[in-house]
Amino acid sequence: MSLSGKVAVVTGGSRGIGRAICLHLARLGAKVVINYVSRSEAAEETKKQVEAVGGECLIVKFDVAKTSEVQAAFKQIVDECSRIDILVCNAGITRDGLLATMKEEAWDEVMAVNLKGAFNCIKAGCRPMMKQRRGRIIIITSVVGFAGNAGQANYSAAKAGLVGLTRSSARELASRGITVNCVAPGYIDTDMTSELPEAVKEKILSEIPLGILGEPGDIAGAVAYLASEEARYVTGQAIHVNGGMFMG
Ligand code: NDP
Repeated sequence: MSLSGKVAVVTGGSRGIGRAICLHLARLGAKVVINYVSRSEAAEETKKQVEAVGGECLIVKFDVAKTSEVQAAFKQIVDECSRIDILVCNAGITRDGLLATMKEEAWDEVMAVNLKGAFNCIKAGCRPMMKQRRGRIIIITSVVGFAGNAGQANYSAAKAGLVGLTRSSARELASRGITVNCVAPGYIDTDMTSELPEAVKEKILSEIPLGILGEPGDIAGAVAYLASEEARYVTGQAIHVNGGMFMG
């Protein structure tokens, strides 16, 4: 598998799953654009790690929820890199709470970043791909977008929305040589999940047939496959990477 000569944009590429995706794609030869929104030191650390494996990268800060920032950033990326071959919509946040007491802002923020953020990036990123008549778009959804989860009505609704976005854009963009797929992680050990109480982690673990938590690299492997030539005939699909906790 080689991604030599390809340019890959990874939203939320500075930490967790996004960092693992940047590293994996860089190891396969892609030039990586590392996006972040607030923690520049994390993005710099990812850059250091990408360069340590011999990869080429640049850091571009933008908020995926802000349409004008996304448009300006994608213009800058095309100006600097000449092309975009792979777009990974990975940036995501949680604002958990029970539905009956969930604040409107918690709903709106999660929708803006997790769902509209992907729409913004796909809309901006598909243009250069359409000109190239080739592209790979990979969206990071979640097991809870399929199974639901108490305390995550906003997050699971946004993640389910990403599945619809994947399928509709796959149908629209296929004739231009662009595939669109999503990866649905189960429980992966990152900053996002580190604050869960031990009892909750134990319960989740008991529901995973493989009996272990996932690592960011497990998701990166699925993304790399979908980004590769080997996946040229795969579009509109969801790959579940969850240790068996949900079998869709
Ligand atoms: P982390 O919280 O570890 O990292 C989130 C990343 O997203 C950071 O790079 C962060 O940048 C970036 N980000 C957040 N908001 C924005 C924004 N508005 N614009 C641009 N970038 C933003 O999350 P994970 O690595 O755990 O999760 C990555 C993806 O995988 C998410 O979509 C998440 O929903 C999904 N997922 C994770 C699972 C898990 O168990 N961890 C399970 C299922 C799905 P910064 O540091 O600058 O804030």
